[in-house]
Amino acid sequence: MKRVYNFGAGPAMLPLPVLEKARDEFLDWNGLGMSVIEVSHRSAEFEALLTETDNLLRELAGLPDNFDILYVHGSAQMQFAAIPLNLMPLKPAHKAAFIESGHWTVLARKEAARYGQAVTVATSEASNFNHIPDYDVSTLDADTSYVHITSNNTLFGSRWNEFPDTGDIPLVADMTSELMSRVIDYNKFGVVFAGLQKNLGPSGMAAVMIRKDLIGHAMPQTPNLLNYDTYAKNHSMPNTINTFAVYMMNLVLKWLKDQGGVPAIEKINAQKAKLIYDAIDATDFYRGAAQKAHRSQMNITFTLADSALDKAFLSEAEARGLYALKGHRVVGGMRASIYNAMPLAGCQALVDFMQDFERRHG
Ligand SMILES: *Cc1c(COP(=O)(O)O)cnc(C)c1O
Repeated sequence: MKRVYNFGAGPAMLPLPVLEKARDEFLDWNGLGMSVIEVSHRSAEFEALLTETDNLLRELAGLPDNFDILYVHGSAQMQFAAIPLNLMPLKPAHKAAFIESGHWTVLARKEAARYGQAVTVATSEASNFNHIPDYDVSTLDADTSYVHITSNNTLFGSRWNEFPDTGDIPLVADMTSELMSRVIDYNKFGVVFAGLQKNLGPSGMAAVMIRKDLIGHAMPQTPNLLNYDTYAKNHSMPNTINTFAVYMMNLVLKWLKDQGGVPAIEKINAQKAKLIYDAIDATDFYRGAAQKAHRSQMNITFTLADSALDKAFLSEAEARGLYALKGHRVVGGMRASIYNAMPLAGCQALVDFMQDFERRHG
């Protein structure tokens, strides 16, 4: 069996022990004589799995008690609608502020504009989102219902190092490409959400960590299955939950706990990222795409000084089992997504290849 190092942005690599365990118990989960995706979501066994997963996520994240975790359908982008529908009514103006640091914040703002006022208060678009824009949150209008940010910008390879203190105005963060990869003080946030397919499991579902007092304010026309209250009142099972996603996330979280939890994986992630950034910075042959001060630890974007070599870089990399390094077209060049499951050895293999490629083509 040949397994590659998958640098794709998502769906992304999952830890091998997780995949092996899922394979080994697929035909007979928990001694029930059926797979986990054949078991009723209302069964005691599945309810126990969901509760265990919830407790694990809460424990590993260090989530404060005044937060609920909701497991919702539609992955990350569905939240671009759910958040305005649920949170805009917090203030009569139905106004949300967006600090735009990349593609996903722009999409979220456009979707929110369908439901109320969606205001761009800062953007780094003029420099093709190569950094997190500066913004003084004390200048926010008091009638703002919430502030939306994207903590890690998957396409552009930047991240927020420090999060703004928005005071009484809830801060909402799309953490799809970095949830559980770094220690977060959730007290700074009103809502943190993430599609699972980058750091936590398969696609199709999102985890929404939400301060309990922000639940129950949805606009009257909010579809039942986008209303956070519906999920909070029904243990995230108002309808049939994505049972396989819950199961896989459970295995990923147990693996994360075995690694020493979030503080330990954060250290490894920093080591992994440094290895690749050092290789980029050591030569003019490669150039980092994001400003150094705002570099992501999860998505490393870089270009080749001579873009005519891009094709050769990608095909030679793939021949060595270094898969999906092509950058998003809005940035060009390369992107190495190195989520929690990417081992240090994968990053070292990439660096070895980059240096070898430069020797042969530089
Ligand atoms: C990948 C990604 C998304 C898109 O998620 P979907 O699950 O496809 O909706 C949204 N936001 C960020 C920050 C992402 O990285």
